[in-house]
Amino acid sequence: MSKQRKAVALISGGLDSMLAAKTILEQGIHVEGINFFTGFCVEGHTHAIRAKDKAKVKRNNSLWVAEQLGIKLHIVDVIEEYKNVLINPKHGYGQHLNPCLDCKIFMVNKAKQWIVENDFDFIITGEVIGQRPMSQRKATMPIISKQSGADDLLLRPLCAKNLPETLPEREGWVDREKLHDITGRSRKPQMALAEQWGFDDYAQPAGGCCFLTDKNYSAKLVDLWQAHGHKEYELDDVMLLKVGRHIRPAPHFKLIVAREEGEGRFLQGYKKQFISMNCASHPGPLVLIDGELSAEDLYLAARIAARYGQGRDAEQVDITIRQQDGSERNIQVTPFKIDEIPQEWYI
Ligand code: SF4
Repeated sequence: MSKQRKAVALISGGLDSMLAAKTILEQGIHVEGINFFTGFCVEGHTHAIRAKDKAKVKRNNSLWVAEQLGIKLHIVDVIEEYKNVLINPKHGYGQHLNPCLDCKIFMVNKAKQWIVENDFDFIITGEVIGQRPMSQRKATMPIISKQSGADDLLLRPLCAKNLPETLPEREGWVDREKLHDITGRSRKPQMALAEQWGFDDYAQPAGGCCFLTDKNYSAKLVDLWQAHGHKEYELDDVMLLKVGRHIRPAPHFKLIVAREEGEGRFLQGYKKQFISMNCASHPGPLVLIDGELSAEDLYLAARIAARYGQGRDAEQVDITIRQQDGSERNIQVTPFKIDEIPQEWYI
C-alpha cells in the first residue's frame, strides 16, 4: 500500500489559502492548516469591538476556513520571532510597513520546520503569480522557495502549472494536471472555483492579511518608533495602535482617546499601565496617556480630553486624572475648541 502523504497548508483565513488546501484535499492528501499569529493580524480585533462594524461577522477566519474544509488548524504564536522580520526586512517594505516578501519567507520557513518536526511531506500556500505587487510575482516565487529552505517541498496549487514541477508532483503524490494555472489580480478564477466547491461565504481581505498594509496603522507605528527612539515593541504597544484616536502634542507624550464605548471598555484594561483621564463633570471618553508628563503637559492633555467629552462647549469642565496605582485627583480645565488642536498632532 502506498504511504498516506501529508501536507501542511498556510491558512490566512482568505479565499486563496482555502482553495489551495481544498485542491490538495481533493487529491486524497491528508491536509492540516497552520496559521501564524504575528500581533498584526486583522482577525477579529477592532471590528470585534467597534459599534460601526457591528454588522460584520465576528469570527476567526482561519478557524472558520479550517472548519469549512474539515481540517485541523494549528495556530502558532510567532510574535517574538516576527519582530526581527518587521524591524530588519532584507527585501524592504511594501507600500507601507508591510515586509511581505520577508514575511512569506519567514512563514514558509516556519512551516518547513513544522513539517520536519511533525513528519509531514510538503507545504501548500495560496499564492498566485501576479496577485500582489510585492510578494506574489513570478520573480519572487523562487526566492520564497529558496530562502525559506523549503525549495521544492513548497507547492502553490493555484498557480502550480505556471511554475516548475515540485517534489510532490514529480513523485506522483499529487497530479499536476489537477492543479491550477491562475495568474493576475482578477479574482474571477478563484470565485469560480469557490462556486464549484460550494463556498459562498468567505473573507474578502481588502489590502492584505495584516495591519501593516494599512496606511494609518503604519503611520502610528512609525510615530511609536520615533517616540521610543528604537524599533523594539511589545505586543501591547502594537495592539493599542489598533484602538482609539492617537494625538501627540509633544514628542514625549501622546493621548489615546476612545472613539466609542466599546473602545473605552477595551482601554479600561490598560489603566494600570498608563495614566488615564476622563471627564468628571460631563460624559466623556476614557483617555490613556503614554509618556512622562510635567504638570503643564497634564493640563494640556486634560484640555484635549475635555474636547472629546460632552462638556466641549462648557467654560470649564472637571477632569479626573488617575495614576497607574489608582490614586485620583480632579483638575478644572477649559476644553480646547476643535480648531485649536493642530492637525499635525493627530497621528
Ligand atoms: S500582508 Fe502582512 S501578514 Fe500578509 S504577507 Fe504581507 S506582511 Fe505578511
